[in-house]
Amino acid sequence: MASSLTSFSDEARIALDTIAGRAAGLLSPSLRLGVTGLSRAGKTVFISALVHNLIHGGRLPLFEAQKSGRIARAFLEHQPDDAVPRFQYEDHVAALVDERVWPDSTRAISELRLTIEYESASGWGRMFSPGRLSLDIVDYPGEWLLDLPLLGKSFADFSREAFELAALPVRADLSREWRSLSAGIDAQAGADEMTARRLAESFAAYLKACKHDERALSTLPPGRFLMPGDMEGSPALTFAPLPDLSDGRPHAGSLHAMMERRYEAYKTHVIKPFFREHVARLDRQIVLIDALQALNAGPAAMADLERAVTEILACFRPGRGSLFTDLFSRRIGRILIAATKADHLHHESHDRLQAIVRRLAERAIARANFTGADVDVVAMAAVRATREGTVKQGRETLPVIIGTPLAGERIGGETFDGNTETAIFPGDLPEKVEAVFKDIKATPKAPDADPAIRFVRFRPPRLERTAEGVALSLPHIRLDRALQFLIGDRLA
Ligand code: GDP
Repeated sequence: MASSLTSFSDEARIALDTIAGRAAGLLSPSLRLGVTGLSRAGKTVFISALVHNLIHGGRLPLFEAQKSGRIARAFLEHQPDDAVPRFQYEDHVAALVDERVWPDSTRAISELRLTIEYESASGWGRMFSPGRLSLDIVDYPGEWLLDLPLLGKSFADFSREAFELAALPVRADLSREWRSLSAGIDAQAGADEMTARRLAESFAAYLKACKHDERALSTLPPGRFLMPGDMEGSPALTFAPLPDLSDGRPHAGSLHAMMERRYEAYKTHVIKPFFREHVARLDRQIVLIDALQALNAGPAAMADLERAVTEILACFRPGRGSLFTDLFSRRIGRILIAATKADHLHHESHDRLQAIVRRLAERAIARANFTGADVDVVAMAAVRATREGTVKQGRETLPVIIGTPLAGERIGGETFDGNTETAIFPGDLPEKVEAVFKDIKATPKAPDADPAIRFVRFRPPRLERTAEGVALSLPHIRLDRALQFLIGDRLA
């Protein structure tokens, strides 16, 4: 795989952008926090909860600046980038708090500026004016990030890998239709739009099928096939991998030549600008993963998640020597890999979940040969939808979680109505971390196999109100620990 990700002119442009950005930053310090993760990992919920807790002075004992009372106030301001859609914070909070429904998930990039006024912890810092930090939160689909490795891959590399992965046991049945369609096509015949479309649609349908709940497979590129943003239906998205040509180069005007050209256009017009304008400007990054879903789906899904995390880390990896990578390595200083939705487990299992994610991250770091940024992991719930209790069963006392399952959720024979609170024994995560990383080559679990964790989706919690009727902030698990790692040092 070629290692040069961008051409020199891209690098020069990023250098200028960065210098200008830093000069502006001297006037009003800002920190760009990227929030990513595959679809449904919990990005929207995380950002909404983070902002809500900071604005409303939530309970954040592990977030030092808040705990020691140094945060004077936090408020939303106009974001610096006019061309990026705003993160619809107010709508999302209204959904969570007023309607108790989960907000609409991330479909494209968006941004929000939260400004925090604080008092410095050091006497020296306090001599100057009160501290002020503008936190620019950039929400973007992890699917798009997984495109970055394509910059170093030719159409032939991309195609070969796509066919190899599609033939693995976990994906073979899902990809069968697309593979047989490809096998029946003469790629050296004249380019034909309808054939291109059929192939692209069939390939996209296979990628989407991999995302279904019971498979829980992570994503394969191209990311815009799953999350098109505003590019739905454009020619840059109307391509698909093709089998190796047995007779060398593609003929001029052939389907193969057209697909290759579109793949290159996708790199130039979709991946590069996204990388240059957004990812390369980030200072900190949180990568959300739905480890519970993968754990439940079995070892193959875990292996797949690990592969995705490896690729995501590789996107932030400083390589050797080039101006571009040097800049990049200086900028992303901290990366947090966060397993979300820990409120589906009893707290006794939180540390186990964190240990599993730590192992996954370590393996990914080793595989991606990653250096140059602090990486930490956390098991958390940005919004805690459950509380804990115990249930007596015979002589045993079982730890349970209590919440309101979403309407239509089922456990055993029971279907929930969305209004009834219920206690669930969620099951335990394995004590030995290694147990979940075995059997990497295993075939998917049978759909009726007993899952490790009893997984139902709960409604967002009912917020408690003070005597004056003010709603208290959103409950969470370890959101404060995440905040401390991501921005704590900038409020010291
Ligand atoms: P996105 O696609 O990354 O923006 O994902 P969302 O933030 O929209 O989250 C997807 C779904 O995961 C939500 O609709 C919730 O059902 C669930 N979810 C996300 N975060 C949490 C959490 O902290 N606790 C619980 N219980 N569910 C969550």
